[in-house]
Amino acid sequence: MHGPQLPPHDDAPVDVEEETDLAADALGEVSGELESLAQRAGVSGAVLVRQARMARDPSLVALVHQFVRGGRPAPRATWEAFGAYRDMRASDPLRPAPDAAELDDVRDRVVARLLGEPPPGIPDPGTPYVLVARDLSPALTATLDSGRVLALVTERGGPTSHTAVLAKALGIPAVVGAPGVAGLATGQLVAVDGTTGIVTADPDRETVGQMQAGSAQAGAARAETVDTGPGRTKDGQPVQLLAAVGGKNDVEEALAAGAEGVGVFRTEFLFLDRESPPTVEEQTSAYREVFDAFAGRSVTTRTLDIGADKPASFVRLGDQPNPALGVRGLRVARRYPQLLSDQLAAIARAARDSKADVRVMAPMVATRAEAAWFAARAREAGLRNVGVMVEVPAAALRAGDLLEVVDFVSVGANDLAQYAFATDRADGELADLLDPWQPAFLDLVATVLRAGAVNSRSMTVCGEAASDPMLAPVLVGLGASALSMTARMIPVVRASLARVTSEQCALMAAEALDADGPEEARHRAERVLTS
Ligand code: PEP
Ligand code: MG
Repeated sequence: MHGPQLPPHDDAPVDVEEETDLAADALGEVSGELESLAQRAGVSGAVLVRQARMARDPSLVALVHQFVRGGRPAPRATWEAFGAYRDMRASDPLRPAPDAAELDDVRDRVVARLLGEPPPGIPDPGTPYVLVARDLSPALTATLDSGRVLALVTERGGPTSHTAVLAKALGIPAVVGAPGVAGLATGQLVAVDGTTGIVTADPDRETVGQMQAGSAQAGAARAETVDTGPGRTKDGQPVQLLAAVGGKNDVEEALAAGAEGVGVFRTEFLFLDRESPPTVEEQTSAYREVFDAFAGRSVTTRTLDIGADKPASFVRLGDQPNPALGVRGLRVARRYPQLLSDQLAAIARAARDSKADVRVMAPMVATRAEAAWFAARAREAGLRNVGVMVEVPAAALRAGDLLEVVDFVSVGANDLAQYAFATDRADGELADLLDPWQPAFLDLVATVLRAGAVNSRSMTVCGEAASDPMLAPVLVGLGASALSMTARMIPVVRASLARVTSEQCALMAAEALDADGPEEARHRAERVLTS
């Protein structure tokens, strides 16, 4: 997975117009290719959309033109233009600097196309294999074929990073952020457990046997549940299985997996990759497409969660020293109140003539006052079922207060872990701190779910944690009545819940809470099932 090799530069004259056109065409084609990959990636395709947009940036073509005029043929001019573009964007006070790896990936694709080489791709040894890489861009991850790539292991990145989320959405077991794996040799035997994140080099026979049995069991569990049906424990306690969706592209898969509704409709995908926000009409029709598909079921629509790692060019957030702790999610409405009122108006309009049970919630809420402010605006817009996400520890500790002013709260496990452990969710080096089996994280979740029980509300947990088949019963034991996850994991979690009674769920939760660390929590919860 190396970038293309440029031929040595010579001083042969170049046809400026022809070389510039060649580069402009290659940029356009690569942008189109990235857009198709984004479509395929569905809810996880935001990075690809962003990359497609980079390739379409007119200032890139202008820079290529400059380098061609300086005597460079199209491939070299493009290569150098990307370097200049990166410097230009780094000093642009109005636009966030693009991610270097994402930009390099776009550059390599364009240059490869100009050299007539295949796009940077994945090796194909001819038989199914485990792909080990130092790092893998989301664009390349989206091209993986689950029939060929048995598992993905990367040295860099975090378990809730885009690459990890994408691989999971494609059904490929992935361990992202496993230090030292780049030292594995081609052909070396390796065992990968995507659920626990454990990679074993040269596993002994016993380990191989155990893993094969585990994977056969998981396969059988999946097969048992192809006929879908609502989620429930072995003794019949209902647990709603909801899908996380980003727009209409994700609807089909969610319905096929038997999603009982949408736990989080991440509306920001409609807002990224644009110079100005979508109009109320445009938003209304995009929301309606999702609501219509879920007639008779609930769709929890989350208002815009931009800022931090999801920048939108029309929202000027300035140079924030620590964007994840800055103006993000609902906080953006402090600066751009119209953005929120337009969105609420569009959701209310789309909900009015829909048969779905439309609920609306705000991301990144820290206090009761913020929750009350949001609820007042949503109700003014005509929305009835209004809630907030609990992603900030302050909100978790005071979930009962929030429930006095909103109809529901929903745990956002990805961010709750990030903020509880002061650990960037994109930072692979610190990923162990973000393990959802961390007892302190489970304490926070338990606090929120208890507040729901006291107030007799149904409680949803969203985020990667909810799709861990062993953690799902623990979350139910802590009081979750609904779990929201990537559609692909719904059958797996359904099967996992069908094997445990509600009493076992409660025991597993108690064991996990009582543990000293994530490993012990996992083992003690598992032991409930084997003893
Ligand atoms: C979360 O934080 O758990 C969540 C569901 O929201 P997102 O992953 O979109 O931040
Ligand atoms: Mg979140």
